[in-house]
Amino acid sequence: MKKVLMSIIIILLVIKVGGNLESSNSIYAKNIDLEERPNNISNLKYVALTFDDGPGDYTKDIIDILNKYDYSATFFMVGSKLNENYRDSLEYVVENNSEIGVHGYSHKFFTNLSKEKLEIEINNTRVLIEDLSGVYPRLVRPPYGSINNKIRNYGYGPYILWDIDTLDWKYKNSQKIENKVLENIGPGSIILMHEIHKTTVDSLDSILNELKEMNYEVVSVSKLAKYYNIELEDNKSYRNFK
Ligand code: ZN
Repeated sequence: MKKVLMSIIIILLVIKVGGNLESSNSIYAKNIDLEERPNNISNLKYVALTFDDGPGDYTKDIIDILNKYDYSATFFMVGSKLNENYRDSLEYVVENNSEIGVHGYSHKFFTNLSKEKLEIEINNTRVLIEDLSGVYPRLVRPPYGSINNKIRNYGYGPYILWDIDTLDWKYKNSQKIENKVLENIGPGSIILMHEIHKTTVDSLDSILNELKEMNYEVVSVSKLAKYYNIELEDNKSYRNFK
């Protein structure tokens, strides 16, 4: 009788453990890209860092700071600034696993443009970036966050907005930039910065150090979307992936 009881308990235990394994596996398969997402994700949180208005004199410096923490970011570049002088910078971004996106050709309000002019703003810049970096960029950041349903429906996106605006262009103060990030940060956030201001570059090391302490991983927008299982669509805009 005792033996039978023990056998039943063992069988029940096996079923219980098996059941747990199966359910945890299915959660794992659902949320994680097994090839690209790190294994030790249990206490890691992800955010995307974005830099607008480049390329510029600080692009490479920003990559060097990101590398210190093994982080990456997305650089939304302005077509009219793209020329041979920045070929090295663009290659440096790509080589170091960061991402390049499109910020229009002449930094105009998208909502003021006709469909034809918008296509030129976006797709000509894509071609220029491909010429200089070898990578055809997909993501689009509308200057000033200027977007409406008409622009979305043209389908030249995905259009990437933000939920943390550091206002770095306005304050030009490293401490204020840091406070804006740390007070508003949450998993799935997209942070907006501008790579052309020295005070922004100067704020970066301290911010990334704090985020590391808080167990955040800082990645490009495309990686963030992938990690949160979001399939980006060309006719949609995104403020975050929460
Ligand atoms: Zn801009």
